[in-house]
Parts: sequence; structure tokens; C-alpha cells
Amino acid sequence: MNKAVRLKVGIVGAGMAGLACAQALASAGAQVQLIDKGRGPGGRLATRRVTSPDDSAHVLGIDHGAQILYPRNPGFAAWLAGGEAAGWAAPWTPRRGGAWATGPDRTGWVGVPGMSALAQALRQDLAVACGQPVVRLARDAHAPWTLHDAAGTAFGPFDCVVLALPPAQAATLLATWADAVAQAWATELQGVAMLPCWTLMAVTDDTGHDWDVMEPETGPLAWVARNHRKPGRATPAGLATWVAQAGAAWTQAHRDDAPARVQDALQTTLQGLLAPPLPTVWHHVAVHRWLYALPPAATPGAPCRWDAALGLGLCGDHFAGRDVEAAWHSGRALARAIALAPSPD
Ligand SMILES: Cc1cc2nc3c(=O)[nH]c(=O)nc-3n(C[C@H](O)[C@H](O)[C@H](O)COP(=O)(O)OP(=O)(O)OC[C@H]3O[C@@H](n4cnc5c(N)ncnc54)[C@H](O)[C@@H]3O)c2cc1C
Repeated sequence: MNKAVRLKVGIVGAGMAGLACAQALASAGAQVQLIDKGRGPGGRLATRRVTSPDDSAHVLGIDHGAQILYPRNPGFAAWLAGGEAAGWAAPWTPRRGGAWATGPDRTGWVGVPGMSALAQALRQDLAVACGQPVVRLARDAHAPWTLHDAAGTAFGPFDCVVLALPPAQAATLLATWADAVAQAWATELQGVAMLPCWTLMAVTDDTGHDWDVMEPETGPLAWVARNHRKPGRATPAGLATWVAQAGAAWTQAHRDDAPARVQDALQTTLQGLLAPPLPTVWHHVAVHRWLYALPPAATPGAPCRWDAALGLGLCGDHFAGRDVEAAWHSGRALARAIALAPSPD
């Protein structure tokens, strides 16, 4: 990339894919603006903040999205190892419990003090506008791009635009711009049916268990974690934080149920999975519905989409796999493709 003429890139979506793309482009000299509809960056790398029941000044973090990372590629592993040195990541070997635990426990990685710390680490000095849902793409025949949010704010002009979004959300935005390439990509993305996930978050008294995670193979729940057991969580003694995620099939069947009803069902199931002593006090219980939690399957193919003539690119976990590492890989692959494109005049 010609650093004398700084490429201006607008990125919609500040999850792992968008942040990884932005960070790589900024390192290559581009001027990057991220725009996200969420309260902060991270997307599905999310940590919910809950006031501690023992001290209103203390905030507990509960990771209700991605739980643990098992790196496959040396580059991603090296990034996480760098995070351990910097204090925003740590290895974790959760002890598995229940009848489903077979084989040795595996060591993975978590963000510290929450999974969203991984997103914050990438964010650094990047410009991120949060709380701003982009609803329209605009580009005249030869003019640069502008992005428009729901309140009518226009971002840009940008030489190129990246959509780092789950497939359905990217397809909706692409449909706002009448171009053959955009429409073909929208059609492709509409065919990717992401799996939903109802997630229960809870704070209870700590009854102590000899396991950290459970992966039930029957019933509504597919994953249960004693969240406070992750390294660096600073949970006051006597309190436990829980994450319990429903399986895709159960979530699909109860997708549109009232949250109170889902909460009741998942809390009852969790109680049933816990051997006595059971928690006696449920200080906080809430549910969150992820409509686009996980891609349906890892599909081998190009890890991103890029049209140099249009200056339009797509990235996200679904292009490269179905986890945080796939999103990281997809975002960086797109940044490489963009950096090779000719600089603006
Ligand atoms: C419950 C759950 C458990 C998971 N467990 C694991 C795990 O243990 N390990 C693992 O590796 N992965 C796990 N994953 C998957 C992992 O979280 C994702 O693969 C990864 O975070 C996806 O990153 P992304 O950047 O592609 O998408 P996202 O994180 O979804 O980022 C997209 C961003 O776009 C924003 N956005 C959407 N529409 C708009 C718009 N119109 N305008 C502006 N912004 C918009 C969103 O707010 C979001 O921040 C889990 C996911 C969920 C939901």
C-alpha cells in the first residue's frame, strides 16, 4: 500500500473479524473507521457486566458469547501468547464434569478479565463508533463510499468498505445497494443459516464443585461453565457466576419463546445437572438470545470476499470456520487482499 496516499476504509462490524481486518489495515498505513451497532466492540466476544450482590461498587463479568479458544494456527497462538505477557489473555484447563467427560482435559485460552478483553486488545487506537447501526451503503458510479446509520448520520467518504457481519446482516446491507456483485453476494449469504443460542447467565452462592465445565449431550443445555473459575475473574469469595448455553436444536424449537419462560426452563435444567449441594441463592439470573451464534458448518473455500473494482469486501467467521480464530483469519485475509489493491489517486 502506498502510505503517501492513505487508503480510507470504512468497516461495518467491530467483532473479531472487523477488528482483525482493521488492525492489519491500520498497520499497513490505511485510515480505518469501524462502525458497530453494539454498546462496545467485540460482537460475540462478549462479557456482560453485573453488579455484585455483596458490594454494589464491584462489577462481575459473565462471558455470555465465546467461551474458550483452542488455537490451531501458530500465528493465532502467538497472538494469544503475547496477550498472556500483556495481561489480557491466559491459558485455562477447565476440569470437565458429568457423565459426558471422556479423555484428558484440554488447555485453551480465555480473555482476562473477560472474553471481551480480546476485542479491546485489538481495538487499541482504532477509531470505533459504537451504538450506530448502519442501515445503508451508498456509492455513486465513480465516487467513494458512504455509510449511513439509522439516525441519518453519514460516515465517509471511504475508498473501500468492509462488511464484517454475520451473513443475514451483511445480506440486508448489501440489498440496499443495487449492484450485480452485491446482489450475488447477498444471495450467497442468505443461504448461510446461522445457528441460534439461548444463553443463561447467573450469579449464585458458590457451592463448590470439582469441575469447571460440563458439555451435556442430552437435554436443553449443551454447555455449562462455572465462569468465575476462569483465570483473572476476581469474583468475591462465596459467589459463583454461571453460563449455561442451550443447544442449537433446543434454541431453534424455542427461538421465539418469552425470555422469562426460557429462563425458567434453563435454570431448572441447570439445577438438575448440579449434584448437591445446590445453590441456595440465585442473586441474578438473565437470558440472552443470540440469533446468529454459530455458522452451520465449517465450509472450506475463500476466507473472505473482495472486489477490487468496487472496493467492497466481506469477512466473518462463517467464511473460514465457526469460531473466533476463523473470524480473526477471515479479517486478516481480507486486509491482505485490500492492501494489495492499487492506492487511490
Ligand atoms: C453463545 C456463543 C458461544 C460461542 N463459543 C465459542 C467458543 O467457545 N470458542 C470460539 O472460538 N468461538 C465461539 N463462538 C463463536 C465466536 O464468538 C464467533 O465465531 C466470533 O466471535 C465471530 O466474530 P465475527 O467478527 O465474525 O462476528 P461478530 O462477533 O458477530 O461481529 C459482528 C459485529 O457486527 C455488528 N453489527 C451487526 N449488524 C450491524 C449493523 N447493521 N451496523 C453496525 N454493526 C453491526 C455486531 O454488533 C457485531 O459487533 C461462540 C459464539 C456464541 C454466540
